[in-house]
Amino acid sequence: METYDVIVVGVGGMGSAAVYHLARRGVRVLGLEQYDIPHNQGSSHGLSRIIRLAYFEHPSYVPLLQRAYALWWALEHEVQERLLLVTGSLDIGTADSPILRGAVQAAQLHHLVHEVLEPAAIRRRFPGYGLHEPLLGLYQPQGGLLVAERCIVAHVQAALNHGAVIHGREAMTGWESDGVDLVLHTSRGVYRTRRLVLTAGAWTHRLVAAYRDMLQPERQVLIWMQPRVPAHFQPAMFPVFNMAVEEGTFYGLPIYGSPGFKFGRWHHLEQAVDDPTSMDRACHPEDEAVLRAFARRYFPDGDGPTLSMQTCLFTNTPDTHFVIDAHPAYPNVFIAGGFSGHGFKFCSVVGEILADLAQEGSTSHDIALFQAARFHKRALV
Ligand SMILES: Cc1cc2nc3c(=O)[nH]c(=O)nc-3n(C[C@H](O)[C@H](O)[C@H](O)COP(=O)(O)OP(=O)(O)OC[C@H]3O[C@@H](n4cnc5c(N)ncnc54)[C@H](O)[C@@H]3O)c2cc1C
Repeated sequence: METYDVIVVGVGGMGSAAVYHLARRGVRVLGLEQYDIPHNQGSSHGLSRIIRLAYFEHPSYVPLLQRAYALWWALEHEVQERLLLVTGSLDIGTADSPILRGAVQAAQLHHLVHEVLEPAAIRRRFPGYGLHEPLLGLYQPQGGLLVAERCIVAHVQAALNHGAVIHGREAMTGWESDGVDLVLHTSRGVYRTRRLVLTAGAWTHRLVAAYRDMLQPERQVLIWMQPRVPAHFQPAMFPVFNMAVEEGTFYGLPIYGSPGFKFGRWHHLEQAVDDPTSMDRACHPEDEAVLRAFARRYFPDGDGPTLSMQTCLFTNTPDTHFVIDAHPAYPNVFIAGGFSGHGFKFCSVVGEILADLAQEGSTSHDIALFQAARFHKRALV
């Protein structure tokens, strides 16, 4: 039976980074991915993801983000490829909205360069934006986008260069403990490992019974529209955004990797998913309608013909913060999930954290916010 120090299950955004950090440290690591690498059935496809520093979700994410930026740049250097494009970011809402207040709080607390701009000032600097009062935007110049699938490929390529073993099209079907090691069963064979890292994204709640009520996958839809004025939607002219308006909370990115202006609505049509494998992956007129109405009102120059649409998956926790913790019954199994629609930018640093946990059982990063026990007073078994 093949034996490893660590097996990582799920080579998507987080798993590819974990395999990379482990291999770089000389750990004998196997990465297992049920689909191709990369693929478009999980949470990490669609060409681009927002990265930003003025983190409205909670200021304690900012130090992790600062480390994530440094690790993305180091990876770019290692693979000699541009993975992170700085465009600036706008967090938009009314003065009392959680997005604007949270972004201001994080920026002030961590002394981040930022400006709060009125709609007219936003339009003058970034003419693709068609905002009106009472909306305000916090502009932070270090925001930008990550080239999503290329980030996974870069982590995988660099991991292989450092000696990792990675198998696509091989699903883990179960594991048991022999008291010391774990014996892992897959669609192709059986392996023995000291430690197991589960980065199974939207499938995690189906692999860990104790996480069933904690992690809720949700169907999302993205659109790429052909702007009426493409010049206004180029990366140099169009910061990435998050925006809370009366129609919901939306996010968007400039033209990159496809000729369209890309955006989506957080929690789209609020469709919970039990089995991600059988989710409805078609895009329907009602999916397009909610996105079209948003563009028409807030980005009139972007409201051109639809170029593409895609489905994707969030995995939500009840408080939208991540779960990064040891398995409640197996102390040598570590789980990272519940990234609640905002995890990709953290892949680089989560990979480092998971490598620390798998190697040492602890990490110097502050991950107190991500303990699973916050959802249950009783022991999770
Ligand atoms: C539409 C959309 C927009 C988003 N926008 C942003 C954004 O702008 N910025 C941001 O930071 N985040 C964003 N996110 C969130 C971010 O993309 C996710 O948090 C992140 O991709 C999650 O990575 P993951 O590794 O957990 O999941 P995945 O990348 O899906 O990886 C999980 C992997 O595990 C594999 N797997 C599962 N079970 C098994 C098994 N039994 N055996 C083997 N393999 C298995 C799956 O096939 C999959 O490849 C967005 C998400 C969506 C859907």
